[in-house]
Formats: sequence, structure tokens, C-alpha cells
Amino acid sequence: MISILKLLYNTNMKYIRKFYPVLNNKINGKKVIYLDSACSALKNKLAIAEESDFLSKYGFCSGKRSVHYLSSLTEEKIQIARENISSQLNSSSQEIVFTSGTTESVNILANSIDFKKGDTVLISALEHNSVLLPFWRLAQKGLIKLDIISIKDYKIDLKVLARKLESRPKLLCLTASSNIAGGIEPFTEAINLAHKRKCPVLIDAAQYIPSHKIDALNIDFLAFSGHKMGAPFGTGILYINKAHFPTLSSAKLGGGTIKNISLKGKGIEVELLNSYMSFEAGIQNYAGIWSLYKNMEFLENLNYKNIRKHISDLVLYAKDELSRLPSIKVIGNSIEEGSLVSFISQNKKFSNMDFQLYCNENPDYHFAFRSGKMCADLACLNLGLNGVIRISFYIYNTYEDIDIFIRILKNYIKSID
Ligand code: PMP
Repeated sequence: MISILKLLYNTNMKYIRKFYPVLNNKINGKKVIYLDSACSALKNKLAIAEESDFLSKYGFCSGKRSVHYLSSLTEEKIQIARENISSQLNSSSQEIVFTSGTTESVNILANSIDFKKGDTVLISALEHNSVLLPFWRLAQKGLIKLDIISIKDYKIDLKVLARKLESRPKLLCLTASSNIAGGIEPFTEAINLAHKRKCPVLIDAAQYIPSHKIDALNIDFLAFSGHKMGAPFGTGILYINKAHFPTLSSAKLGGGTIKNISLKGKGIEVELLNSYMSFEAGIQNYAGIWSLYKNMEFLENLNYKNIRKHISDLVLYAKDELSRLPSIKVIGNSIEEGSLVSFISQNKKFSNMDFQLYCNENPDYHFAFRSGKMCADLACLNLGLNGVIRISFYIYNTYEDIDIFIRILKNYIKSID
């Protein structure tokens, strides 16, 4: 199926929409204008079929626990997925931890680092709540000091970062692409600065990885979600550079994470596995993992350069069209490097919620986009925003989607004046 998709993609982008059931079926008689992929990408027929096929053929516990033949079949599949995903990230399969998504990846990491009282964690002011809150909790407990790096022109301020790194923080957390300001962050430069001070870096690639190839070689920790690239919900990766395994104590323990438990005196002695396995407690979403791998392979085959070009063209077009509208202000800088356009209206009569309701009443189309703070409250505070309207794009979007959205936005603006 991949080669057919690749051919169709290269021949005419329009055909790729055929592989997204939501785009081909009217819902309650209305066509879907899907501009919310930054929240969750639509699922393609390949990802759906791979998940379903896996469940029908390999619905067994993996070989980490059972050793019967059927479990070895599941185990073999999961190791194939692990190998392939790791090679896409230019890493080793031993560095891949399967999680339920970015949120779980960050929570596991935050609670697995052996912080000593007084350690500092640096985070950028653009971080999603999924990155902010796990570290905020540790700060609240008095374990760490949370230090926020300001932004300049919608990007992390590298001069401020360099200064803050002088005090030898324990970790730097940075999004590769903000889910509200769009564009991409200078994360390669930030990593180089941090490494000069021996500070490891967590990169939140939730918004970046669906449309960019990423090389984990120089990254310490990397988190992303499958559902934002078309794979099933409840799938994701925490990449841990192998140099860091000995310094971490897994915060998610349970079945499949120990070497041995023995009695010692009146208590017990537990010997944990010292590898990715000690982070993958409990039965996992095997079918989801398989589908995630197949989906990543599909994206790789489509070629990230093609994907990027298509999305960047849409972002630029939407930015241009929006900028022409009275009172509309587009947020961000070099946003064509990302996959979304956030905007506000400077007209006091414009209400984001009212606009959404206006769209919901449209007889012909379901408009899916997002308004509000995008779970990026810290970013909103730092950018002086009360909330935005965000439209976001993926491989299946077209110029026509944007034209239809702009038309309804224009009509709404007329209606309030
Ligand atoms: N980071 C960023 C930049 C995001 O956009 C999101 C999701 N909106 C997350 C983290 C959290 O991802 P998930 O909900 O899939 O765990």
C-alpha cells in the first residue's frame, strides 16, 4: 500500500486525501474542513488497517513475560517496530521506550531523573503544559528550582539561555516547535550551548516530528506522540540516549521491569533491569506500536522534504490570506517552518468562541480548528495573549481548505461590524 500512496503523493497531492476516511465521508451531510492536525492528525487507512490486522493476528502478550510460541510472534513484531523507529531517529533500538505519548514520556522522564535538592531545570517560556507541569510539581515539592527562559521574536532567547547555563542546571527542556507560536525553535543551537555546559536536553518534538525528520544523535531525551502524525492514540516515544540510562531510576515500575526480587532480612531486595525495559512497565499497546512504526515508515517513504514543502506552502498561503483581513494579526516569526498559523483579531467585537459557534452553524461544512490557549498557558502569558485561533495543516490539506476557512472568517467579520 505504501508504494501506491507514494506514487499518488508524487502524482497529485489531491489523491492522498482518498486515504483519509474522514475526508471522504460527509458527517451529518456536511463536508469536513480539517484544520486541527496540530491537536491530532487524521488517521489514514494504512495506520487503521495495520492496527486492526495486528490485533487479529498477534493479540497475545509479548515475549517479555510468556515464552510460548504465540507470544514470541508478538515480541518479534514489537522488536521490528523498535528497530525501525530507532533507525529513523538515527539511534539504537535500546534507546527507544514506548509510551502513551509526549505527556507520559515527559512525566516518566521528569520523575526518573535523580534530582538533588536545589537542582535547577531550565524550560523555555513556550512550553506546553505537558512539559511545564511535571517539572512545576517537582519544584512545588521543593526538589528543584524551575527557571524559565524568556523568548524574543517568538523564539527562545539564546543569549538568555547561554547566561542561565552558566549556573550549571541539571536539565534544559525545549520544544522543537511551539504549538502556539508556530515555526521551529533554534533547538540545535540550544543543544550545543547546553552541551558546552554539560547540561542534558529534553526536546519536545510533538509538533515537529510529524513533518520533519529528526536525528537524535546529539539529543539526550526526546518525546513525541504518534497520534499527531496519523498513528493511533495512546502511542508515543521517549528516546533516552544510552549514556543516560545508568543515571536514571525509572518512575514507572511494574511487570517487565525487574531482573530479580529476593527476600532480604525482613524486607525484599529488588534488582531492576537497567535498560529501556525498566521504563516499559505493564502490557503495552502492541497494535498501536506496530501501527506507529508503519505510519512512520509511510511518512519516510513519502519523503519529509515533500511533506515539508507542501505544508510550508499552505502555511505561507494562509498567513498571506489572513494578513489581508481587517483587524487580523498573525502570531509568530518564520512560521512557514512549522505547520500552523495562530492569529488574533484586534476588533473588540470579535470573540473566538462566538466565531467557533458561527462556524458550527454553517450548513455545508464542519470546520475543525482550535481556539483558546492551546494548553500553552505559559506561552500565552509570555506573549501577552489571552488566546488565539489556530489553524494547522498536514499532508492532506489543500488551498481550497484555506479558501473556505477564509471565506467564513470574512463573513463572520462582516457580520459583527
Ligand atoms: N507538546 C506539544 C508542543 C504539544 O503540542 C502537545 C499536544 N498538543 C503535547 C506536548 C502533548 O502531547 P500529547 O497530548 O499527545 O501527550
